[in-house]
Amino acid sequence: MAVKITDICICCDSCIDECPTNSIVDESENPNGDNIYFVDNETCTECIGNNPNPTCAEACPTEGCIVWDNPKTENKIHGQACED
Ligand code: SF4
Ligand code: SF4
Repeated sequence: MAVKITDICICCDSCIDECPTNSIVDESENPNGDNIYFVDNETCTECIGNNPNPTCAEACPTEGCIVWDNPKTENKIHGQACED
């Protein structure tokens, strides 16, 4: 699963500029067509090495909106996509 924005997202824009890897897009670019923000897990690092928790989740005012399943795989720490 990695990092995921769930359907309780209120599109407040608080997370997007906090992401160090520009992995978050707004609802207009959500590839699933959902009216919520979206995390690209190909580029998301889960903030490992920068922050004990995803920075986006700490910035999000909607409790439980951003969920994750750290830790990432070793491969992903080095910038490769996770198989799952
Ligand atoms: S966990 Fe970190 S890298 Fe991933 S989307 Fe959130 S802020 Fe960006
Ligand atoms: S901070 Fe939370 S509620 Fe706001 S846009 Fe990001 S995921 Fe959605």
